Amino acid sequence: MKLCSACLLGIRCRFDGQSNPDPKVVKLAEKEVLIPVCPEQLGGLPTPRKPAEQRGGKVITEIEDDVTAQYKKGAEDVLAIAYILGIKEAIFKQRSPSCGVGKIYDGTFSERVIKGDGVTTALLKKNKISVISDEDLPEEE
Ligand code: SF4
Repeated sequence: MKLCSACLLGIRCRFDGQSNPDPKVVKLAEKEVLIPVCPEQLGGLPTPRKPAEQRGGKVITEIEDDVTAQYKKGAEDVLAIAYILGIKEAIFKQRSPSCGVGKIYDGTFSERVIKGDGVTTALLKKNKISVISDEDLPEEE
């Protein structure tokens, strides 16, 4: 059993009300239990919502609202779900300010990517839950 960014399974939880279905992840869900989570929705943000990026230790929307508290709450709730279900692995959406794994946008809303983890990814890793991105998930044999 693994956690999974809900948008990768086709759930329309993305900021613009769309999803990011990944055929590899959808196929994997036929073989093992994937628990879909969207930290931004769990943190209390609406869908659709303003896009946000990490900047200077905070999470800021494109209209300069500080949504750091909602991102932290979402991360804590995802960690709680992992504990309750005894989950040690997650497959998360690359470059998201919540779910990115080693790559995130730089906070200027110019699509420039820098090194860094999403808020939820960072909290899971700190608690010894391994996180891989959809892009690093191997192809099915
Ligand atoms: Fe997908 Fe994660 Fe963004 Fe939710 S927070 S839409 S699960 S990438």
